[in-house]
Amino acid sequence: MSDLGPTRLHLASRNAKKIAEMERIIALHLPGVAVVGLDDVPAYDEPVEDAPTFEGNALIKARAGAAATGLTTVADDSGLCVDALNGMPGVLSARWSGPPLGSQAGKDERNNALLLAQLSDVPDERRTAHFRSAIAIVTPDGRELVVEDRMHGRVIREVRGDGGFGYDVLFVADDRPGLTTAELSREDKDAISHRGRALRALGPQLVAFLERGTR
Ligand code: IMP
Repeated sequence: MSDLGPTRLHLASRNAKKIAEMERIIALHLPGVAVVGLDDVPAYDEPVEDAPTFEGNALIKARAGAAATGLTTVADDSGLCVDALNGMPGVLSARWSGPPLGSQAGKDERNNALLLAQLSDVPDERRTAHFRSAIAIVTPDGRELVVEDRMHGRVIREVRGDGGFGYDVLFVADDRPGLTTAELSREDKDAISHRGRALRALGPQLVAFLERGTR
């Protein structure tokens, strides 16, 4: 798309697999942008994500990151919205089974077990759901933008696959029937995912923000 030289972009996340997905998509569409994570910048007080919406939480994270680092900062807030649960876990997806104690893998396993139990008597035709990702970009001089996108599909009855993260082992996307998103190649998940779509939509504005922003 654009050669931005040594522009540095801060990705405010501690979820290694989410960071890897975002880095991959950014590298493909914004060559020349060096992505730095929370572990690459001096530690700062990370804000509580207490907004009721994905957009609100993405902005909270990106604003705090830009203020603390002086770098243009991107943050994703995402989750799974299950129709039979009135849109939950939604913004509570990461901590659906309780506070995020222990390893990421252990937490994902507990969240998936709880979701399966909650949906055990929900028939196949009512197991529809979608992933949502809101991605916010905030510059140190206060410019802000949020983009949101979705991936529609359904929750199956047993875990399958070892790719992806979180609820991927339980989710079959309408665009790839028969496979969970944990069974897709990384590139295939990026092509259809909520996060991939949102990041691609953000791409052109990201270039504009970075060109006028920090280096
Ligand atoms: P966040 O880091 O607060 O945005 O939490 C996002 C949570 O939503 C993750 O911990 C996962 O449980 C879930 N989630 C978001 N995106 C995905 C995805 O692409 N696949 C599977 N689970 C996801």
